[in-house]
This record gives sequence, C-alpha cells and structure tokens, in this order.
Amino acid sequence: MFSHRGIVPRPSFPSFLAGMGRKGGPLPGAPRPAPKLKSPREIALMREAGRVVAKALDRVRELAVPGATTADMEDVVAAVFREHDAIPLFLGYPSTVKGKSPFPAVICASINHHVVHGIPNRRPLKAGDIVSIDTGCKIGSWCGDSAVTLAIGEISPDVQKLLDVTLESLNLAIRAMARCRYWSEVASLMERYVKSQGFYVIEKFVGHGIGQDMHEEPQVPNFVSKPLLKNDIRLEPGLVLAIEPMVAMGTKEVRTLDDGWTVETKDRRPSAHFEHTVAMTLDGPRVLTYLEDEAVTPTASPSQAPGPEPSPTPDRDKQP
Ligand code: MG
Ligand code: MG
Repeated sequence: MFSHRGIVPRPSFPSFLAGMGRKGGPLPGAPRPAPKLKSPREIALMREAGRVVAKALDRVRELAVPGATTADMEDVVAAVFREHDAIPLFLGYPSTVKGKSPFPAVICASINHHVVHGIPNRRPLKAGDIVSIDTGCKIGSWCGDSAVTLAIGEISPDVQKLLDVTLESLNLAIRAMARCRYWSEVASLMERYVKSQGFYVIEKFVGHGIGQDMHEEPQVPNFVSKPLLKNDIRLEPGLVLAIEPMVAMGTKEVRTLDDGWTVETKDRRPSAHFEHTVAMTLDGPRVLTYLEDEAVTPTASPSQAPGPEPSPTPDRDKQP
C-alpha cells in the first residue's frame, strides 16, 4: 500500500498482520478510518500490558548466549505471560495465506537474514548470530507489543552497526514525536537516517495502531510515501502506535518461506527489528513497553536528529 517510487504500488502490512490493504481492505490511496484515541486511563491500562511484554523480553536477554535456543526463549516468555494472566497475542494468529497454519508460538524469533515472523525452534544459537524476538500480550482488554534484536556472543562490527542503526531509528522516532505534528515528518527522519548509514528500510511491513486490538488503524510506515502523505497521521494526545523499524543490510526486498510465516531478505544478508508501543499524551510521547518508567527526552530541533535534514513539510491540503 505504501510505495513512494510511484511506479507500481506494492502492499505494506502491519508487522504480524498481512491483512490490511489486501482484498477487502481500503483501496490504495483511499482515506483510511481514523485511529481510535485512548483516554489517560486507557493508556495507563495499556502500560500494564506493555510492562509485562518488557519483562518477558528482559528475561529473554538472559538467553542471548551461544547454545541457547529460540524454543527456550519461547518458554520463558510464555511463563512470564502465565505469571501475569496475560493472553499471548501471537499464538494462533491466523495466516492470510490460504491453507497455511495459524502462527504456532508466543514469540516470533527471526534469526540473521530472517526479518520477521520466524518460528521458534530447537537449533542452538551460535556466536555471531542475531535474533529478533517480537512478542505481544493482552491484559484485561488492552494490548502491548514490542520487539528487540539480540546479539549472540560476539558479532561482527557491521552487524553491530545494523543493530545500532535500527535501534536508533526507533529511538529518534520516539524523540521526534515530541515536536513533530505529523507521522510523515517522523518517518522521513527515520528513513533518511537509515539510508545515511548505508542500510535499507524494509517497506513491506509497517507498524500499526494498537489498543484493544493488537492491530488497529493507522498503518505506521518507517518511510515516506504518497499514500502516507495523503493519509498522514496527526500526532495528538490519545494516539497509541506500535513503531517498529525493520532494517536490512543489503536490500529491502523480502520473501516469505514455505512455512507461510518466516520472512527473509532476498539477498539473505542480516536484518534487524526493534519495536515499542508508544502513547502520545499531553506531556508528549510515553513508551508503554519500557521496563521502567522513563521520560522521553525530545530532540529540540530537527538539526539535533542524526542524518540529513528532513524534507520540507509535506503538502497538507490533502488531509482527510
Ligand atoms: Mg507490532
Ligand atoms: Mg511486535
């Protein structure tokens, strides 16, 4: 759905969902439904789900060692969710590919050139691997969703740079939300930063609104496109977004494996993924999937953001 090349619009999908924008979804370029804004009380409830997701991912970090398996990581996350009466959001998630099974695990575990939606397995991780762990849960009626890419033992400097750049693209987005009025301004900063570092923003999968459902409007791309500018997202109090840059070392082109889930880069070079659930409040952005409450330090001006300057403010005449 979001393509800025202006040739053939290719679909983008919220990570872990390949439904919106396909058959039955809005036509490319059509106005999308408005996001459901959350009250301060609802955001406080979402923080509880976010805290449990953060706790689960924190436990997973202890397993980021050679010899551990992604199945071990699955067990740890499932145990944390049980401990908190949290409902796992990924387990049983239906595939949009006809005849393919629902997602079989509580976490997505995507190793090296696997971008997203990898299925945990019993293969021991080895030094030099990277593994992206994505998970989400619901507590009461409210969801949290977060992802992290972990280094196993010592990794090569270029892969470390990939992790650093991907994480920084998420962090700079969160900081920029404090002063930007529209998501396209944030997405422009993310995209320009990643490109300035010589890497590629995966465009097929995007972030998403989140609330009582894991995937709500709007779609949250990590790059600027004509459809985004046409349906730009106003950063207003009550908006809650799962922001999740996926960055690859050699190409943005991806394909899905025969298991119907695992997405890999076409050149089989590494890819990284970081995600936080972030609420806009009257006091600015608040990260709901941090382990501890932590204030966001806003960038004071675009010049403080890494990478080239953002593009001029897009034309707002076409706001829905
Ligand atoms: Mg997500
Ligand atoms: Mg996620």
